[in-house]
Amino acid sequence: MHSEDPRRRTPRTDVVLADPLLAEPRARLGDAIVKRAVGRALERCRAGEVAPEDVATTAYAALPAYAASLRRVVNATGVVVHTNLGRAPLSAAAVEALTVAAGATDVELDLATGRRGRRGRSTMAALAAAVPDAGGVHVVNNGAAALALATCALATSKDVVIARGELVEIGDGFRIPELLESVGARLREVGTTNRVRLADYEAAVDDDVAFVLKVHPSNFLVSGFTSSVGVRELATLPVPVVVDIGSGLLAPHPRLPDEPSASAALRDGAALVTASGDKLLGGPQCGLLLGEAALVESLRRHPFARALRVDKLTLAALEATLTGPVPPVAAALASDPVALRARAEALAAAIGEVPGGVAEAVDSSAAVGGGGAPGVELPSAAVALPAALAEPLRLDEELPVVGRVERGRLLLDLVAVDPADDRPIAEAVRRCVGRPAG
Ligand SMILES: *Cc1c(COP(=O)(O)O)cnc(C)c1O
Repeated sequence: MHSEDPRRRTPRTDVVLADPLLAEPRARLGDAIVKRAVGRALERCRAGEVAPEDVATTAYAALPAYAASLRRVVNATGVVVHTNLGRAPLSAAAVEALTVAAGATDVELDLATGRRGRRGRSTMAALAAAVPDAGGVHVVNNGAAALALATCALATSKDVVIARGELVEIGDGFRIPELLESVGARLREVGTTNRVRLADYEAAVDDDVAFVLKVHPSNFLVSGFTSSVGVRELATLPVPVVVDIGSGLLAPHPRLPDEPSASAALRDGAALVTASGDKLLGGPQCGLLLGEAALVESLRRHPFARALRVDKLTLAALEATLTGPVPPVAAALASDPVALRARAEALAAAIGEVPGGVAEAVDSSAAVGGGGAPGVELPSAAVALPAALAEPLRLDEELPVVGRVERGRLLLDLVAVDPADDRPIAEAVRRCVGRPAG
């Protein structure tokens, strides 16, 4: 036993940092993160909470798993494309592709000739193959960037005709009409909130109009006494039709009959389609521009295009999304409710009793989310638990699980959960239940 006050024996930072225990974390996480953890452990040592000989182990135990703070989370919300959880999760093939691309890569080099190669050529080829109706394809940072580039290139100091019922706020206070105006276009609104006719568009189109914009109301429904004008009719107007389909479906989806697709819009006569890559397409965040070859080429070469350019990680992940195995979003949309119910039964049995009840498999109604297919209900299954478990599960150190609270119960909906995560979910629930109350 030391008679001396341990606080007087607080070791020096450099001595703790030199501890062999911290060598591997210093290499993996960098000195700054390890130093911060050591600093906190030393403070606790000075406060008498940690023995001087325990400072290194205390710092080690407090180290994060990665140098970045974003955590892996299980999406058990029943919302397939969850904006707050990063929208589309990537396929394993896409993750592998972007990991490879993270190093030095031939993104702009033709290895056969040793000369400069066109950036992202294989990704563009994969996109062109996936949308044969598009004469030209280009990719920018997100859906909003795609629309901004088209508007900037075609409609600066000109007018864009848009229906009042399609003046959409996309999220976080950002609004499509303000986006168009921010790159110098003037809006010419036609129709009313609930109704617009072809004649309204015809009356609005004159020499100052650069294009007619059709925006998919992807995050709300207007029902009742309504009418809108389809792309085929708009294509009879003497100006190009640009269609913002939003969710990025390349071809019609049988489960989402009202969700517009790029190929249908192009076949109906759209000059240009814009869309997001990380909604229903299930890829990385990006914006797709699909349409007439000369038009897309002029957008690609526009000076503003450079400011919206995607990085090599996006190009790699998008290509693998298009050419590789079915991405998680598409798998979730195709999931069989009977199979989901069987998984929910097994998971409920694995969890068993919890304070305040027993885990129970229930039928559930899931949603597409993320600004796509509003109002569509996907039949799903969930494990119901006491609502009090919502917070501890979300705060689980090892694997945060985010469910949804419905009618006083926590539902862990399996529609968007990888089956490989079922067992880790059961373990997370058990960890939370084992935790002392408070
Ligand atoms: C989501 C969405 C956008 C914005 O796309 P981001 O990829 O989020 O920039 C634009 N228009 C519509 C119709 C959308 O649904």
